[in-house]
Order: sequence, then C-alpha cells, then structure tokens
Amino acid sequence: MLVNPMGFIQEARQRGVAIASFNVHNLETIQAVAEGAAAEHSPVIIQTTPGTLKHAGARYVAAIVREAAEEYGVPMALHLDHCPDYDTILRCMAAGYTSVMIDTAHLPYEENVEMVRRVVAEAHSRGVAVEGELGRIGGVEDDLVGEAAFTVPEEAQDFAQQTGIDMLAIAIGTAHGEYKGEPNLDFERLSAIRAVVDLPLILHGASGVPDWQIRESVKRGICKINIATELKIPMAQAIRDTFAANPGENDPRRYMGNAKKAVTEVVRQKIRLCGASGMTDEGGNVQ
Ligand SMILES: [Zn+2]
Repeated sequence: MLVNPMGFIQEARQRGVAIASFNVHNLETIQAVAEGAAAEHSPVIIQTTPGTLKHAGARYVAAIVREAAEEYGVPMALHLDHCPDYDTILRCMAAGYTSVMIDTAHLPYEENVEMVRRVVAEAHSRGVAVEGELGRIGGVEDDLVGEAAFTVPEEAQDFAQQTGIDMLAIAIGTAHGEYKGEPNLDFERLSAIRAVVDLPLILHGASGVPDWQIRESVKRGICKINIATELKIPMAQAIRDTFAANPGENDPRRYMGNAKKAVTEVVRQKIRLCGASGMTDEGGNVQ
C-alpha cells in the first residue's frame, strides 16, 4: 500500500539509517525500485519531478506505483520532488501522492514561508507529508540550473518552526546531476543544523557522492537520500550495451528488460548503503 512516508522515516531516524528515495521516469524504473526494495526488505520512496509528470502524467505514475506497492508488498510512498507551484501539488495529491516537496526558494524569505505554510495546511488536511528546502542545492534539476547556497542553521530552525513542514532538505555541498570533481560535504554544518532542527533531514544530489560521505551524513542525521542520476546512468548504459551487442535489436522487452535489471541492482546497493536493508518483515511491516 502507498503510505505517508513519515512513519518509516521516523523509524529510520530512530535506528540511525536512511530511506532511499528514487526518481523514476517510466514503468520499468518503477518496477525496478519496487523489486529492489522488496529484495532488500526495505521501505522505499518513489519520486517524480514536475518534468517527469509532463512526460508520464501524475495519474499514470500513481496508478503504476499503487500497483507496484501492492504487488511487492513493501511500504512505499509516492513523492513529488521539487515542485514550485501549488496547482501541480494539488493535482498530485488528488492523484494519490502521499508526500510533496514545495520548492519556492526563489521567492523572498517571507513569501517563501507563506507559500510553504499554505501547502502544509492543505497537505496535512489530506494526510500528505511535506518536504521543504532551505538553502539552495546547486546543479541541474529538470530544466532549472541553480547556484548553490549552503543552509544556515539558524535560518533552517526558523523556517522549520514557521512553516510546520515534516522534513527538511538541506544544502551542505551536494549538487544535482553529475559532479565535475569529488564533492566535499560540510559535515560540521550538518551537525549544526541537526542540533537546532528537530526534523528528519534530507540529502539531495547524492548521486556521485562517495559512499563514506553518505554513511557519515546518515550517522549525523540524514534520514532520506535522493537518488536520480545514479539510476539514469546504468539504465542508459544497459540500453547502449544491448544495441552494441545486437544493432538489430527491436524488442523493447529485451532492451528495457536489461535496463530494468541494471537499475534494480543499483537500487539494492543504495538501500544497503543507507542501512535500511531488513527494516521490513516478510509481510511488509516495519519490524
Ligand atoms: Zn533535489
């Protein structure tokens, strides 16, 4: 069943582990995430950006994810990633999304707070969780290119208190998309935020961050890790490999099937890296 993620995110926080949250784009990537999570006995979050909704449609995505949650019997949440507009959030909640991220960080602070509060009121009346972000994660997200601005702990504390969000995405040196050099996360900043914000903290742009830095982030209080690019790369590679081996291949079940296998493997690795393997029993309950 699709659930509000806060139950298993709080559980992960208590255990000192994180929930992996994967950006999907189509049927096969949704199946791969569900299959990987079931194999690891872990709750999981599937998320789509507004750009993916233009490609696949919120109701199509929700229908497939609902089915996957039933079929694989893992606690699963469906989350809207980086959404700047209220109407899309309403549309997704109506389609069955159980969690949304409102991203109006481009607005002046007071207007941003006002908008996030409005989303929180509406979402909570429907039992939907809300992720907010303070600071700016750099890199490319959908069609947006952003300059990074690190999260200031005192501002994060004020933002969390004023908005009533359920979880907070922070900027501590990660970026969306592919890294040019090796990222160096600001762990001191993470701990300083953790000390004053009593909410599950979220790391965006985790693709390409060395494993030890992910583990250290989780140890210091990150409870949700977003992974997008690291699924796209093996998927594209598996498809390229299929055509390289057989240029005449034209069966989508074969090239997309190979892509699905490659993505499932990465999903499993990431869930293990987050420490969430074995959180659920055979019946799909958090144990
Ligand atoms: Zn992000």
